[in-house]
Amino acid sequence: MATSTTPGLVCAHHHLYSALARGMPAPPRTPTDFLSILQQVWWRLDTALDLEMLEWSAKLAAVEALQAGTTAIIDHHESPNAIEGSLDVLAAACAEVGVRLRTAYGVTDRHGPEGALAGLAENERFIRAGGDGMVGLHAAFTCDPATVDAAIGLAEDLEVGLHVHVAEGAIDAGPGAELARRSDDDWILVHGVHLPDGIDIDGTIVHNPRSNLNNAVGYAAPGRFSCAVGLGTDGIGADMLDEFRLAFVQQRAVDVTATPETAWSWLETGWDLFPEARDADEVDWGYPEMSAWHLAYTTSPQVREVRVDGEVVCRDGTTTRVDEAEVRAKAAEQALRLFAALEV
Ligand SMILES: [Zn+2]
Repeated sequence: MATSTTPGLVCAHHHLYSALARGMPAPPRTPTDFLSILQQVWWRLDTALDLEMLEWSAKLAAVEALQAGTTAIIDHHESPNAIEGSLDVLAAACAEVGVRLRTAYGVTDRHGPEGALAGLAENERFIRAGGDGMVGLHAAFTCDPATVDAAIGLAEDLEVGLHVHVAEGAIDAGPGAELARRSDDDWILVHGVHLPDGIDIDGTIVHNPRSNLNNAVGYAAPGRFSCAVGLGTDGIGADMLDEFRLAFVQQRAVDVTATPETAWSWLETGWDLFPEARDADEVDWGYPEMSAWHLAYTTSPQVREVRVDGEVVCRDGTTTRVDEAEVRAKAAEQALRLFAALEV
């Protein structure tokens, strides 16, 4: 069968720490809205993480990214009981597998001012040491105004962008919009579901259709923003063609005249954020026509080979630098440790 080649794909918003979450025990109470999903699921999970869990969670996520043709990941990280050194663990894991990573620690006041300071320090330490990073902020609604100011100031000092969840749920509509109005060209503003129409923003809005549907937060309608729009998974894998298809049909659900070129342009924004994936990485696909109208309705184009900087990192469905079976086995062990920690 004919094949074709594209650049490496980019996931513009991921959470490597969440790869172990699949199959986790049900929360003590059934979440009924966005805030209780955070409280019952994600904030219990991130609190239970340690550095060993992170290592294997990141390796598993990186392996699965390559298997989907994704060679670059923009990650947003939180592990409040294992902050120091966490970004190094994620970076080392991705480097071992052969995936490009830009990460950030999501600063928050949910664990008091000491937690916020430790998060800021981890961003600064990692970036000053030469790591490919941004300054992360969880979301304005979980931070004191002084912490928001400190994160913005640190990003300016380090000459990197801010990577932050913005107006994902209605609870962050006010603080999120206020923060978005302060944005700069190099910021990544994630979700934007509850931002007002016509808001003047710099930076890139990253749309995460599967996550938004899963959390019932509403439709971001990213076509209404005048700034750049990218695509992310919000931690649910790194299959960007799948996310593109979902972005298209979700747009189509409210506008039957929508064409897949719009969602495709959102996918292409990833290359503006991570040009190395476009310029130096290649993916061979077992499908001859890798274009918007084909891929909107083709659900299973197979990755044949992935090359990062010319090196084959994935071939015949599996990774070349790491043993996929070992990564999956170790990740499964760490998932059991994580699930046990959640029961405490
Ligand atoms: Zn997120």
